[in-house]
Amino acid sequence: MFEKIQSAYQRLSHVAHKTPVLTSSTLNKQLGATIYFKCENFQRVGAFKFRGAFNSIAQLSDEQKKCGVLAYSSGNHAQAIACVGQLLGVATTIVMPNDAPVTKIASTKGYGATVIEYDPQTQQREKVAEELLHETQLTLIPPFDHESVIAGQGTVAYEFLQSHPSLNTIIAPCGGGGLLSGTAVAAKNMQPTCQVYGIEPELANDATLSFKTGKLHVKPNPPTIADGTRTACLGQLTFPLIQTYVDDMLTVSEDAIKAAVRFFYYRMKIVVEPSGALGLAALMSGVIKPQGEVGVIISGGNIDANTMIDILSEKSF
Ligand SMILES: *Cc1c(COP(=O)(O)O)cnc(C)c1O
Repeated sequence: MFEKIQSAYQRLSHVAHKTPVLTSSTLNKQLGATIYFKCENFQRVGAFKFRGAFNSIAQLSDEQKKCGVLAYSSGNHAQAIACVGQLLGVATTIVMPNDAPVTKIASTKGYGATVIEYDPQTQQREKVAEELLHETQLTLIPPFDHESVIAGQGTVAYEFLQSHPSLNTIIAPCGGGGLLSGTAVAAKNMQPTCQVYGIEPELANDATLSFKTGKLHVKPNPPTIADGTRTACLGQLTFPLIQTYVDDMLTVSEDAIKAAVRFFYYRMKIVVEPSGALGLAALMSGVIKPQGEVGVIISGGNIDANTMIDILSEKSF
């Protein structure tokens, strides 16, 4: 898998942004460590998902590209597939829940994708997608459980450790585990002593339970504000990779997630969506006690104005 991350990095080198790494001296003083934030909220489409989407679609055959691709996603994977489809001239059809953030649905349509909405309370997105696959010639690009997607997502940590080789820890959020498994494979190959932690909302702790028990736990449609991590469970590829390469899985409360979003906004002047704030939430709530140089992946910045207003008006610094 590490070789696949390296070739993904080559493939992405002229299309993906090399995202900035930011620090906060206020935070470093509070925590007594140096925290580096890898800002994938500044990636194309506002999230790391661009990397996996491009790496996957770019490797399809001409025939597959001609027929178009299908994806299901609560948001950022949808936008990423739609954007890459537009870049590479491939038609895209996206199955999205009707309660996904308005910004995510609108921008997916804006990239020219055909959006098919479903009701997550009564329908399973995999089923909706399966029916479409039967009827069409589309190629499915799943949001996380796919080698090219995982390899693409792994380029975040690859790029991070290239610019910051002395990180002793990398912290990443976890939904279906595409980002976390890619992160862990990259980190352990480049810097075997680097610790890798995965963070989930307490309300969506299926991966933490799976990691600790060794048995796959499933939580359909958990009610967390971190919509990027509402995936029901880890995948057939991501679960074993996470079990092998990740050092620990930890959870954070909804309040901690919101406090982290506020910190990014008020102190660092950056817009981070709740899923992107899980790493900082783990540090600020003391779930992880950092030492030395620690890397945190900010996974995305796509948040509805109304959600941001609610979070910012709850409490201020
Ligand atoms: C998709 C996503 C996640 C979770 O990534 P997985 O690969 O599903 O674990 C976290 N944050 C954001 C912003 C996302 O879009």
